[in-house]
Amino acid sequence: MSNRIWNFSAGPAVLPESVLEEARDNLLSLGDTGVGVCEHSHRGKPFVAVAEEAESLCREIADIPDNYRVLFLQGGASQQFGMVPMNFLAKDQTADYLITGSWAKKALKEAKLFGTAHVACSSEDANFNYIPSEMNYSDSPRYVHYASNNTIYGTQFRTEPTGFNSKAFLVRDASSEIFSRPIDVAKHGIIYAGAQKNLGPSGVTLVIIRDDLVEAGSQELTSMLQYRTHAGADSMYNTPPTFGIYLMMLVFRWIKTNGGLAGMQTRNEDKAGRLYDYLDNSSLYQATAQNDSRSLMNVTFVTGDADKDAAFIKQAEAKGFSALKGHRSVGGMRASIYNAFPTEGVDALIEFMKEFEASA
Ligand SMILES: *Cc1c(COP(=O)(O)O)cnc(C)c1O
Repeated sequence: MSNRIWNFSAGPAVLPESVLEEARDNLLSLGDTGVGVCEHSHRGKPFVAVAEEAESLCREIADIPDNYRVLFLQGGASQQFGMVPMNFLAKDQTADYLITGSWAKKALKEAKLFGTAHVACSSEDANFNYIPSEMNYSDSPRYVHYASNNTIYGTQFRTEPTGFNSKAFLVRDASSEIFSRPIDVAKHGIIYAGAQKNLGPSGVTLVIIRDDLVEAGSQELTSMLQYRTHAGADSMYNTPPTFGIYLMMLVFRWIKTNGGLAGMQTRNEDKAGRLYDYLDNSSLYQATAQNDSRSLMNVTFVTGDADKDAAFIKQAEAKGFSALKGHRSVGGMRASIYNAFPTEGVDALIEFMKEFEASA
C-alpha cells in the first residue's frame, strides 16, 4: 500500500512509516487491550505504561541528567514563548534573546510583556541567512533564549551559545531539530520543542526543564501555566495529549533502533550533505543560508528567478515532491528533511533537480 509521496513539509512533517503502521493498528486496539490508543483513560494502566516508556526512552536517547524533568505539554512551542518569561522574568529583570529568525522574534515579543528583553544578536540585516558569531549580552540576564534551528531560513547553530553571565540559564527552542543530533542537556535550563517536526503529531510539546527551575517559577499564575503543576503530576494534571505522547514514544523507539542521536546525526549529515553538494556544484541553484550556518533539517535554495522557482515547484509537485515551496519571507524552495525523511527521497529530489536544470 504505498501511494505515499516525498513529503518535504516543514511541519507537521514526515514520520517514520513503521511508526505510522504500528499506530494504525493500535488505533483499534492498544496491544491486546481491545481498546484503541485514543480511547484509553490517561489514568489507566495501559496508557500510563505508554507515558512511562515515552519518558524513559526520551531520557535514554538524549542522556538527560537526573536533575531534569521531562514534561509533555500542550500549546506548542508558541506557548513556551510565553510560559518561559511569565514564570522566570520579573518586571525588573532582563532576558537576552538571540534573534536568528521569526520564531525567535515571536519569543522576544512575549518576553517584553513581562520584563526587559534584550537583543543580544540579530541576523535580520541579511534576512536571517546566518547565525551571528558576535554576541552582545546584557550584564546579568535572567536567561538567554535561542532557537537552535531556524526552520524558515534554513540556518542552525553548530554549538550552544556561550559567553554570557554564568548565573543565567540557557533556554533552547529546539522545535525543528530536536533529537536530530546529540544534545548537551546539562548546558541548558530549559529545552522545548513542538513535536510536529521531528517527534510526532502536533498537539504535544516536549519540555525538558531543570529541577531548580521547576521550583523557581512564578506562583502567581494559573495552574496550567506553572511548570510545577505539570512536573508534580507527571504531565497528567489534566488530560494530556495521549495520542501525541503515544506516537512520540514510538518515534523514540525508532530513534533508539536507528542508532540513537548519533545515528540520527550521521544520517542527517549524509542527507543534507548530498543536497548541499549538489547545490554548490550547480550553475542554476544557490543555497540561501551562509555556508557555516546551514541547517541539516531545512535546506533553502533559489534559482534567482522567481518564475523559474514557481515552475520548479509546480513541476516537482506533479512528480510527487510535495511542499517544496519556501516560506514567503524567503521565497524560492525549502526541502525539509527531518529525521524521518528517507535518503532515497533526497536522491530522488536531486535527480529531479538535475532534470530541471538541464531543461531550464
Ligand atoms: C514550528 C516552530 C515553532 C512553532 O511551533 P508551534 O508548535 O506551532 O507553536 C516555534 N519555533 C520553531 C523553531 C519552529 O520551527
